[in-house]
Amino acid sequence: MTEDLVRELELLREFGFTHLDISGGQAILPVQTDKIVCPPQSDLLAGLQAVVTVCEKCRLSKSRTQVVYGVGSPNADLMFIGEAPGREEDIQGEPFVGRAGQLLTDIIKAMKLTRDDVYIANVIKCRPPENRNPEQDELDACRPYIRRQVEIIQPKVIVTLGRFALQSLLEKSYAISSVRGQWLDYNGTKVMPTYHPAYLLRNPAAKKEVWADMKKVIAELERDESL
Ligand code: URA
Ligand code: SF4
Repeated sequence: MTEDLVRELELLREFGFTHLDISGGQAILPVQTDKIVCPPQSDLLAGLQAVVTVCEKCRLSKSRTQVVYGVGSPNADLMFIGEAPGREEDIQGEPFVGRAGQLLTDIIKAMKLTRDDVYIANVIKCRPPENRNPEQDELDACRPYIRRQVEIIQPKVIVTLGRFALQSLLEKSYAISSVRGQWLDYNGTKVMPTYHPAYLLRNPAAKKEVWADMKKVIAELERDESL
């Protein structure tokens, strides 16, 4: 319990909080700590969303229309992590709803799943101007949010789409062409790096590689179910 509390406070600090107002007279912690039950994942996700929606930790807050937090099942087995919102996503407030998004939706369907079965989010929550690449300080500022989403959802498998998603989540530099299709690990969760759907729009021939990667993901999810 104490460890959980310390962890929660550390996260708040990572999110930029410096003070906690506990003057309200309401006990935050019940006396009988063994009775504490963890709030459902949907509440934890909503709580985090309330923080991210008003985030101004990096310059992208100035140019966004709105924050694009993430969508899907709060207890999804499979999570897709992309780079950053584009124009459509910035307008609609939902990840992967533009042209690349349609392709991702098709990939999900081909896996015999729906967007509601999985969870979809980005490592950067606000659209970079003209869809430029995210900068290092922006990736660093936003990283705690995607990591916390992963921690709440606890997926069995994460698929990272493109270079920035993988690099930011794992905080390590990779050549996507050499690691794609190979299982990596993020804090005990299996990570399958693959190409970004926007890359597939420019290079349709690479779709077969992505499909090979998704077959590994399907096999892993099925294997997990049969255990
Ligand atoms: N590309 C991404 O990486 N994320 C989106 O949400 C849309 C396009
Ligand atoms: Fe905050 Fe992330 Fe948006 Fe930057 S991109 S303002 S860190 S939510």
